[in-house]
Amino acid sequence: MSGVALVSGGSRGIGRAVATRLARDGFDVSFCYRADEDAAREVEKDLAELGVQVLAERVDVADAEAVRAWIARTERELGPVTAAVTSAGITRDQPLVRMPDEDWKAVLETNLDGVYHVCRSVVFGMMKRKAGTVIAISSIAGVHGSAGQTNYSASKAGTIGFCKALAKEVGRYGVRVNVVAPGFIDTDMVAVLDERTRERALAEVPLRRFGTPGDVADLVGFLASEQAGYITGSVLHVDGGLIR
Ligand code: NDP
Repeated sequence: MSGVALVSGGSRGIGRAVATRLARDGFDVSFCYRADEDAAREVEKDLAELGVQVLAERVDVADAEAVRAWIARTERELGPVTAAVTSAGITRDQPLVRMPDEDWKAVLETNLDGVYHVCRSVVFGMMKRKAGTVIAISSIAGVHGSAGQTNYSASKAGTIGFCKALAKEVGRYGVRVNVVAPGFIDTDMVAVLDERTRERALAEVPLRRFGTPGDVADLVGFLASEQAGYITGSVLHVDGGLIR
């Protein structure tokens, strides 16, 4: 399946690798980012060089109206969305007893409401066309829970529940919904960890390395393809064998 891919948080890290992979697979790509204009322009240029159509829009996924407008523009200019990947995400780590209300809200609004906003706008069109796939980037934190990340773990577990329910709602219309749960992936999000935390994290990974954004993008590329035509409602781990 190719066509138009929508990627939230496509300007850096995993989202950027996903946008690149899907462009290489022949998808036209519309991606959003929140703030880093320079990174977005660089990705826009790289994708265009792959010979596909590209749309890059500054959109906060927590803002329902902005997401609706971005998706409407994408469908007007590139065509109907055939694959939607939600990768925009943030962390605001604190033990619960020190969690400021605004950090709880920011993480839930970006990581969970953001997934809802994207799906709310793209899924009806996919159902009508009887084709399309949604791939949400969750986290192993949403599967196992992660100390110091109650907000993040809740948002990622919520994403899993949301996608499993949605897969059941839309399967009969030929729309597939899956979740990818990465472990430690070498991006800016993990670069903020101090050396001791990185070493401890690495010791827990049986493959003894952090994943690359490309490791995640390869799985997303597969899930977006027709080869994954009988996979829906699944949570697939890309975590080097991490068991918590
Ligand atoms: P990065 O911090 O490297 O990149 C985040 C991307 O999301 C950027 O493009 C950023 O844009 C965008 N973004 C952030 N907030 C918003 C928002 N409110 N609206 C729109 N775009 C936004 O993150 P990663 O690539 O590491 O993570 C990508 C996804 O993978 C996240 O959902 C994360 O939770 C998940 N994940 C990551 C893991 C890891 O180890 N790295 C492990 C497990 C899951 P801008 O730069 O403009 O702010």
